[in-house]
Amino acid sequence: MLREKSLLMIPGPTPIPPQVAAAMTQPMINHRGEVFSELFDEVAVGLKQVFRTEQPVYVFPGAGSGGWEAALVNTLNPGDTVLSVSVGDFGERWFKVATKLGLAVERLRFEPGQAADPARIAERLADDREKRIKAVLIQHNETSTGVTNDVEAIARVVREHGALIMVDAVSGLGALPLEMDRWDLDVVLTGAQKALMCPPGLSIVAFSERARAASEQNTMPRFYWDLKAVHSSYLKRQTPYTPAISLFYALQAALRLIQAETLEGAWARHRVMGAMCRAGVRAMGLQLLAQDEARASNAVTAVVSPVDPKQLRKVARERLGVQLAGGQAELADKIFRIGHLGYVVPGDVLQALAATEMALGLLGQDVQIGRAVAAAQEVWIQALRG
Ligand code: PLP
Repeated sequence: MLREKSLLMIPGPTPIPPQVAAAMTQPMINHRGEVFSELFDEVAVGLKQVFRTEQPVYVFPGAGSGGWEAALVNTLNPGDTVLSVSVGDFGERWFKVATKLGLAVERLRFEPGQAADPARIAERLADDREKRIKAVLIQHNETSTGVTNDVEAIARVVREHGALIMVDAVSGLGALPLEMDRWDLDVVLTGAQKALMCPPGLSIVAFSERARAASEQNTMPRFYWDLKAVHSSYLKRQTPYTPAISLFYALQAALRLIQAETLEGAWARHRVMGAMCRAGVRAMGLQLLAQDEARASNAVTAVVSPVDPKQLRKVARERLGVQLAGGQAELADKIFRIGHLGYVVPGDVLQALAATEMALGLLGQDVQIGRAVAAAQEVWIQALRG
């Protein structure tokens, strides 16, 4: 196989558009000069549109995980109680971050493949009559299980209680509906390398006015992720320390592409790709990990593997030129995942499904070649007919 021509169908990093790759080759500039500030302004406006917020959106050089820390250290006090709602491995990782930072973390866990039940969160918060819980942590889209939480409904119950709601939208933002202001979310964080179609290296975070007010009082030690520092630089159209300038250019190019497609257009494309992928998986006779179609992710599909998922991925990668993702933590030997987010189109989903069924065939499984692709084509053509 020609190794250079490989279709990357993992849930991040995702493929990047040629415009984004080209944007990064621009010459270096003074990060304290007007040219950078103009770049900063355009990115600031574009990010507000994607986050659906009037609040400033801050860009840190860093991985998505940095956003978990930024959310916590800027709004809470040492020893505060937070409720970690977890439906998979990324929920568990944010729980660990909160624990390491010295917060008292209560947990509400759901089985892999399930979404968080807003009613159970409401119950737990209703029991907290003394209002000890200061924040609720939740994934918008749990990448490890292919499940999208009903953040709108969860935000409603959290609002009734009064805690802050912090949303990890690393693999959801830009692909799946999320309305920071309309849903009244307090912290929304993401990374550059998923639906924002950029290379990894940016941690992007927005805070509500309520969260910013909390940051005026709170006493958690911080330096790198300090909101006060980043906000006062923001007002000067800069960052407090050297920004990842090439990635700012990448983000500028990607945001222009999102504007051209429209955010609603991107959501619709992901909706079609998610439905195609699930139809194809079912047509192969395989089981989806997401148990409820209404909460199945349109950004990534997790599939219970009938063979060793490592073998399946190896055949798909080495013989068929398609890269699929494995499972995480306890799901490592049980599932494989097909990422369909970012710079990905329905035709790529057809290719990923074709490779999956061929890999299964090559591994001796009884599959009828072409079925998955046909089922997905059917979904696509229905969507085109409207
Ligand atoms: N949260 C979610 C939902 C993710 O999918 C990821 C990465 O895949 C992260 C957090 C962590 O992002 P990073 O690996 O960029 O630190």
